[in-house]
Amino acid sequence: MHLIDTHAHLEEVADLDGALARAKQAGVVAVIAVGSDLASNQRILEIADRYRGFVYPALGLHPGNLGDIAHQEATFRLIETNLDRLVGVGEIGLDYHYRDARKSEEVRETQKRAYSRALALARDSGKPALIHSRGSWQDCVDLAQELKVEKAIFHWYSGPVDVLQQALSAGYFVSATPATEYSEGHRRALLHVGIERLMLETDSPVAYKGVPAEPAHVLKTLSAVSALKGAAADVIAQATTNNARKVFGM
Ligand SMILES: [Zn+2]
Repeated sequence: MHLIDTHAHLEEVADLDGALARAKQAGVVAVIAVGSDLASNQRILEIADRYRGFVYPALGLHPGNLGDIAHQEATFRLIETNLDRLVGVGEIGLDYHYRDARKSEEVRETQKRAYSRALALARDSGKPALIHSRGSWQDCVDLAQELKVEKAIFHWYSGPVDVLQQALSAGYFVSATPATEYSEGHRRALLHVGIERLMLETDSPVAYKGVPAEPAHVLKTLSAVSALKGAAADVIAQATTNNARKVFGM
């Protein structure tokens, strides 16, 4: 069985050598390493160099890591300079769940500006956008469509089903995390996503039920999705791996 972890913060994973060896043993054939800010993006490039052919880099600017204008500019410069070697642009997106974003229109506007700029890079380079959309599902899908983004993966989607249907109609994908086992919002969404639009991920090293994830845990995602959908694990593995290969151009 060949699996691809399509969303992992490898620069934060403890014992990365060991974690990637365990991933290979578990049947993982590739990991998409996503960046969140200037420093993590730089680390992602180093890690992708070191594990060439196994770790594939995506660089981004997470809505929770925007920082000041100088940081945003430097981050976009780094992304643009390295665009050719990236398999995607992310992690990018909006997050209206943060207290400052809930309270301030200005914060939400700043998030939208950075997200739109990143979406334009994804569109112009033909690379997929990896999107974080917590509490901001409608704006995330609307902006991706307005900017004519063709390839997008909504990571850990747990928003309203009608917005999800809009994203699926636009040809976008959803990636499932190990929270598929217990997150009601995520489970409800995944029931509406056909396997032809699905990918698997871990969001490592996010902890699920107190256990920090590593890429090998994409197996947990697989079994949770398999149980939820009542479909054979090998069928889901093959479909999701093919989807990832196609969308990331691997
Ligand atoms: Zn993430």
